[in-house]
Formats: sequence, C-alpha cells, structure tokens
Amino acid sequence: MFADRAKIIIRSGKGGDGHVSFRRELYVPNGGPDGGDGGRGGDVIFQVDEGLNTLVDYRHRRKFKAQDGEEGGKRRCHGKNGEDIVLKVPAGTVIKEAVSGKVIADMSGENTRQVILAGGKGGAGNQHFATSTMQVPKYAQPGQPAQELEVLLELKVIADVGLVGFPNVGKSTLLSRVTNARPKVANYHFTTLNPHLGVVDLGDGAGFVMADIPGLIEGASQGVGLGHEFLRHIERTKVMLHLVDAASTEGRDPIADIYAINRELKAYNEELAGRPQIIAANKLDAIATEEEKEEVLTLLKEEFEPQGIPVFPLSAVAGQGIKELLYAVKELLDKQDEKPVVFQQEFFPEQEFVGENLPYTVTRSQEEEGVYIVEGPRIEKMLGYTNLDSEKGFAFFQKFLKDTGILSELENAGIQEGDTVRMYGLAFDYFK
Ligand code: GDP
Ligand code: MG
Repeated sequence: MFADRAKIIIRSGKGGDGHVSFRRELYVPNGGPDGGDGGRGGDVIFQVDEGLNTLVDYRHRRKFKAQDGEEGGKRRCHGKNGEDIVLKVPAGTVIKEAVSGKVIADMSGENTRQVILAGGKGGAGNQHFATSTMQVPKYAQPGQPAQELEVLLELKVIADVGLVGFPNVGKSTLLSRVTNARPKVANYHFTTLNPHLGVVDLGDGAGFVMADIPGLIEGASQGVGLGHEFLRHIERTKVMLHLVDAASTEGRDPIADIYAINRELKAYNEELAGRPQIIAANKLDAIATEEEKEEVLTLLKEEFEPQGIPVFPLSAVAGQGIKELLYAVKELLDKQDEKPVVFQQEFFPEQEFVGENLPYTVTRSQEEEGVYIVEGPRIEKMLGYTNLDSEKGFAFFQKFLKDTGILSELENAGIQEGDTVRMYGLAFDYFK
C-alpha cells in the first residue's frame, strides 16, 4: 500500500521543575536559596525533506516524543534543555488535528520548517522567590506540562495540472508520453496506486507539472474503493485535464462518464468542481471511421463547450493531438493565479490547550497592599501552554486576559495603575 496518509501522536517535552535548595558554606549557617531553574522541554518540529516522497516512515511508528527538560539543581544549576524532535516529511504534507480535521500546518512552498508543539518552559528555582519577608522560600515553580496531540498527516501533491478520469481512459499513457514520469500502463483498473508526477517540457523554459490522479471512480467521494484516497491530491492542482475514453472501448458512454467524475469532484469539494477543466477525448485511433470520430467529438463539444469546457481530440497511444492539447493546457494555466494552493492554519495548538471550561479566581491579596492574585486550573493550564518569552505568546496571553474577562474582573476588584498581578510565581505590573 502506498503511504500518503498517516495518523500519529506527537508530544512535546515537559519543562523541568525548578529546584529547592539552600546554600551551604562553611561558617555560613543559613545560606540563601540557590535552587536552579528547570530546563525547557523539547519542541515537536516538522521539516520538509526534499528526498522524501511518501509518509511511509509514519506508518509503522505511532508515537513521536520530544525530550523533557531536566530539573534544576543545587547551586543555581540550570537543568538541561530537552532535545527537540524533528519529523521529516515530504513537501506538500498537510498536518491536521486528528479529531476536528482542522489544518495546523501546510508543509509546502516556503514553509519548510514549523514548530507544531512547543516544549514546556522550565520552572524557576527557589533562588528567585526570596523576598524581604520570605528569606527561606521552600517553593519552586514546576515546569510547564508537555503538550500531546494526535495529528493526521496527508500528502497532497503539488502539481499545476491534475489528470482525472475513469480508470483505463489512458491517463498513465498520456503522462508517460509527455513527461519524464514512467507510470505503469495496463489494461486493468487500479494499476497505479501512487499519484505520479511528471514535468511537461514545452521548450524555451515553458512547462508545468502534471499529476496522474489514479483510481478516480464513481462513488469516490463517499470513500468507495480507493478513489477517495486520491481525491485530496487534486486539491492543489489549478487546472484539471479530464480524460475520457471517446471510443467507448469498455462500452461506457463518454458524456455520462464526464458527468460522473465531475459529480464526484463536487461531492468531495465544491470548489474543486469549479476549477478550470479541459476535456481530452482519448483513444480516437480506436474508432474505425472518420465520420464516427467526428460524431463523438461533436457530441462532446456540443455538450461541454457551452459550459466553458473545451474539448480536444487525442490519441495518447498514437501520439496524435498531444501538442495542441498541451498548449491549450498551458494557456489556461497561464491565466490562473500564480500563487500555489496553500492550506491555511485553522487549528492553533497553543490556544487549544488553555482549558476552556476550567475555573479560576481573581482576588485581592489580604497580606500585601496593591497585589492581586489570579489563580486556578485554567490559569495554570494557559500558562503551561503559552510561551511568554515569545512575542506571539505574550500577545496571546494579553488577549486571553481580555477575552476571559480577567482584566475587567481585576478592574472591578479595584486594581490601580502600577499595582501587581501575581500568577503562579509570575508577577506583572498593571498598566491600563
Ligand atoms: P489509466 O488507468 O487512465 O492510467 O489508463 P492507462 O494509461 O493505464 O491505459 C489503459 C489502457 O488503455 C492501456 O491498455 C492503454 O494502452 C490503452 N490506451 C491508452 N491510451 C490509448 C489510446 O489513445 N488509444 C488506444 N487505442 N488505447 C489507449
Ligand atoms: Mg493509470
């Protein structure tokens, strides 16, 4: 079985805990706190490897885990950072959250490396918690937890033109004739199980990438047979070259075939059916007389050209009509947006881990003047998954305070400019 899809579990490293210890020196009876900070947990990073063209590496192993950060040590020793895990994927791999199917990242084009799950930050050691009133802090901050996520990897090939059509209409034959690709050509269904890519060279630097999208049959959009597996490869193509057996060598009606394929495309993805198409009426050499050829071509043209789909005569085997067809494809392609089809991020792991329904409280400190305490599982969770050192993380943190209503609760509780907000060992000055 080809491997262009895999489901795996990824996990970032937990941040190392901060350490609690006190200086011990000769002649110094009560040394100050010297517990070091925990190390950062490793990130889960996806990286494009141009040498790969399948996801086979992810078919046999399910779990991929970055290293945890080490705990801080005595004498201000910083715990070692956990190592990142770098998962190599072929260009064109789309990473989705497994449950919702939402896109986390599209590893294509310029996006060749992306951190998908950030490692937890290390906790601060007790050396940071000494205050004038608390000189022997027995508290150190725990490391932030790891993030774990089940993700779906899907390889969506990057090609300008996708060949579609029923099995056996001659897609592989055409691809092997016009490109450097060498797909299997055979007179039985489902021979080509891998999508094949080939470069069509029109000379003078003009050319495009064409993909054979095999196995597209009726019912594919409902997952019948293997067809469904292939539909996603069409998603990035800008123009579809729709091949049909105009000679009805298998006894089917070419017009009905074209409608059937287009129905499948539409059922899978409405937008796909609207992309520009060119119909190639193939196997014309298998039609006995010129009159019959003309008849079939006229029928196809009358049916589809009013819908804006041009029809070209072709014999992939005899090599007739290929040039005209390719130039027409190129011309149509040139009219399309140059930007590649890229899938936008819809799922943001950092934000998903903040624990929507967990409780928290906002209180005014009884002991200290001008200090407010925000705590509770929700806050802990949010802090655990937010890297406040990064600009993006800090912006998220501020948005979180606003969106949850924590800011207005602080204001209701009477917070003034310059007052302090405490959250689990972190302290912020409040400014409007
Ligand atoms: P695919 O399933 O669409 O990839 O179809 P193939 O390229 O594997 O072709 C299926 C069968 O049709 C093979 O036996 C080919 O030799 C044959 N075939 C392809 N193109 C032509 C053509 O232009 N004329 C004729 N007579 N046979 C063709
Ligand atoms: Mg084929």
